[in-house]
Amino acid sequence: MDFIEQIDQYDWDTVQAGIYGKTAQDVEIALHKSGRLDIGDFMALVSPSALPYLEPMAELSRRYTRQRFGNTIQFYIPLYLTNSCINHCIYCGFNHGNDIRRIILTDEQILREAAAIKAIGDFQHILLVTGENPREAGADYMENAIRLVKPQFASISLEVQPLKEEEYKQLSNAGLNAVYCYQETYNKARYKTYHPKGMKSKFDHRLDAFDRMGRAGVHKIGLGVLIGLEDWRTDVTMMATHLRYLQKTYWQSKYSISFPRMRPHEGEEFRPNVIMSDKELAQLIFACRIFDRDVEMTLSTRESSAFRDNMTTLGITSLSAGSKTDPGGYAVYKQELEQFAVNDDRTPAEVVEAVRRQGCEVVWKDWDLSLQ
Ligand code: SF4
Repeated sequence: MDFIEQIDQYDWDTVQAGIYGKTAQDVEIALHKSGRLDIGDFMALVSPSALPYLEPMAELSRRYTRQRFGNTIQFYIPLYLTNSCINHCIYCGFNHGNDIRRIILTDEQILREAAAIKAIGDFQHILLVTGENPREAGADYMENAIRLVKPQFASISLEVQPLKEEEYKQLSNAGLNAVYCYQETYNKARYKTYHPKGMKSKFDHRLDAFDRMGRAGVHKIGLGVLIGLEDWRTDVTMMATHLRYLQKTYWQSKYSISFPRMRPHEGEEFRPNVIMSDKELAQLIFACRIFDRDVEMTLSTRESSAFRDNMTTLGITSLSAGSKTDPGGYAVYKQELEQFAVNDDRTPAEVVEAVRRQGCEVVWKDWDLSLQ
């Protein structure tokens, strides 16, 4: 049974009440469990009752991360291919109704962007990002982009609209390594408020994409919720439930989670409904690591340099650096609208230095297409 057939058994209000009903005793039970944690333990660790336990949570998270990943941080960089989009996400600068110049990078421009990325760091992991424009920037366009950059990068990931199962297979055959797709919120009743029109308004179609990725044999699948829409504790509990389902069903794939926290952007007036503090984001990162010792956890340049530096040894395994969040931002069009405002604007070399100061080594390459 796919996850879309299971999700209705999780009533949002009941899950939320369960989290806020967790006690200090529940948190202590989760922290002292020797075996695998269950969703009830995760709910305790993200609950308000766990806030006084941040120090022991940080220590456990640090220990598990070092056991599984050593003293390493993997680096990646996004390359935005297009800001054209048919969707109307009310929080996004690329929203279809926003009057901005739409760009779809040509072959020559993609190669110029890739060369500019190579000039700022020895990046081997590249994340190709698009808005949703299946007619002009669909799977064939993505396949072409993968083939263009493949000679220069060991690992190619995508952050694009949900695709068909056969399209995930097509792109995997072209050299795709990972797909990141964020459900944004698991609150089905409220989902359409944020995604009123376009394909992204279809909650089930998006949620089912993860099963399509699993069936297509995508090597690594990335999940996340957009923090700022709905109660974050309930959303991440639903995400953790989804993660466990996927791990059990598609055990051959690896998994990754991200923590996009809403940032200001141009063009729209949307303000986050929920503000998550740095302390709460740290709590979430620790909870995820204690819940799952093997999952990759990434932190983008949405977050501040100070916060990213603090989390380097405490759970995070993958960082972006030097990011531009607009198509052509590295070399071709330097002044276009960003999808979101970058917070950590240090150069890759500066981030490398900061990672080393924390006692970690940067891994530029931990994957080789020739071994796929
Ligand atoms: S969040 Fe993605 S799908 Fe939504 S408007 Fe922005 S680019 Fe388009």
